[in-house]
Amino acid sequence: MQADILITGAVIVTMDAERRVIRDGALAISGDTIVAVGKAADLAGIEAREVIDGAGFLLTPGFVNTHVHITETLIRGFVPGDLPFDETLGRWVIPLYKDHSPAEQAVAAKLAIAAMLRTGTTTFLEAGTVIAFDEVMGAIENTGIRGRVGRWTEDRAWDPAADAQKLTRDAFAALERDLAAYPQDGRRVAAWPNLIGHMTATDGLWQQVAELARRTGTGVSAHMSPVANDAEWYLAETGRRPVEHLAELGVLGPHLNLVHMVHLDAREAELVAASGTNVTHCPDAALRGGYGTMRRGLFPEMAGAGVNIALGTDGADNHDMMRVMSLMASLFRDAREDRSLFPAHQALEMATLNGAQAMGLSGTVGALAPGMKADVAAHDIRRPEWVPLNNPVEQLVSSADGRGVHSVWVDGVRVVENHRCTLIDEDALQAEGQVMAEAILARSGLPLVSEWPVL
Ligand SMILES: [Zn+2]
Repeated sequence: MQADILITGAVIVTMDAERRVIRDGALAISGDTIVAVGKAADLAGIEAREVIDGAGFLLTPGFVNTHVHITETLIRGFVPGDLPFDETLGRWVIPLYKDHSPAEQAVAAKLAIAAMLRTGTTTFLEAGTVIAFDEVMGAIENTGIRGRVGRWTEDRAWDPAADAQKLTRDAFAALERDLAAYPQDGRRVAAWPNLIGHMTATDGLWQQVAELARRTGTGVSAHMSPVANDAEWYLAETGRRPVEHLAELGVLGPHLNLVHMVHLDAREAELVAASGTNVTHCPDAALRGGYGTMRRGLFPEMAGAGVNIALGTDGADNHDMMRVMSLMASLFRDAREDRSLFPAHQALEMATLNGAQAMGLSGTVGALAPGMKADVAAHDIRRPEWVPLNNPVEQLVSSADGRGVHSVWVDGVRVVENHRCTLIDEDALQAEGQVMAEAILARSGLPLVSEWPVL
């Protein structure tokens, strides 16, 4: 057999149907596809154009991050963390977002992607908050990552003088245009008709995007119920809780990814399970946001009922899915005083296979197996946190983090090598991002809130 790349002598956490973990393993790539995975001795007959010594590497599938705001990076660290949720969004995050120029959004997105690639994430689902859509899509097209991106979409007429029907018409037309311009036709970065969610979309828009997603084989991602105010709003306006209302509209289903989902009741969790709706949990954002995820979250119940739970990093603070996995594998054990909850192997499934399922990419990414896309993260197991190597999956989740990712391939292309992106000029990007961030913050008129003097 011939191949383009053969990585041999590595430890391989395959995430294949049998969940094999292979010591002294080998993985062969032809074009953009994995063609063989097994013991190095069994793959020794493969003739490859490039043979990579995998001793010192542990290979995992590239991680799948199903909730990330890629254009938020330039305001990282600037938004105070101690304000009420509504004030954080209304006075800080949203005005800052809307003040970014298209060029600033493009640089923010590339910084987020560099941070994701370098920590082993090869596929992301953007949160539906990109405003300068074409500029961002153009900027990220050649970074090497795989992604689905949504335009900032909301249509509720908060101003009584607004033309409500026009808002809905325009919002939907923009999404249809995006899907036509960046179709899911095999390209790595494509558009999805995402919604901001919460209470910002009308019933009509929810129904139109569900139909659009089903018709185009794409999906819809939307925020819901991180804190209690979504439920309060829906109860006041519709007499039903948010997920009950969405069920009535007929918009739940495997095409939908609802994000956060902390303040649910048992009936809503049942509706999610029965409909095949995906749920993305962002443990890092939830903990620091004070959502009450450990006290109120029904994630153990939803997982028990068969809900597909995936993981996301959410805002700008960090983009490391390994950190998120580690949190997932610990917080409900503590909250419920039950050490059997969300063990390491389940957290790894969430960050790979479950994420792929939420994005309609099952059988394409999320595992290292013949026929899958060659999306691979190589972890440097000669770092101190990896030594000695006793239990690869346990140590991946509990001991290591994304800084140990040495190399990454997407579609068989090495997009990270020796901890540096190969298709992004990181030095230039970082210099540009720093200058732009300072300009954005100066324009905003908002203060840098720091407990201690910054001199
Ligand atoms: Zn979000």
